[in-house]
Amino acid sequence: MSTVDEGWGFLPGLSRKWHYFTKDGRSLCGGFGNLRAALEVGNDDSSDNCATCKRKLKGRKNGRNNDS
Ligand SMILES: [Zn+2]
Repeated sequence: MSTVDEGWGFLPGLSRKWHYFTKDGRSLCGGFGNLRAALEVGNDDSSDNCATCKRKLKGRKNGRNNDS
């Protein structure tokens, strides 16, 4: 399989934003469940990304919460 376990996914008809999905199939913002869309990595700072997912992803990378 060439798909990635984690990444940004777009949900046509459900959200106009991209959400970040983790290995357990849930978005970081908690609002969206599993999907079958291909996930993309990178583009973490795109304005099309869900703000909550972006913040939580940054917090994970920094190992702490970061609201700035
Ligand atoms: Zn989200």
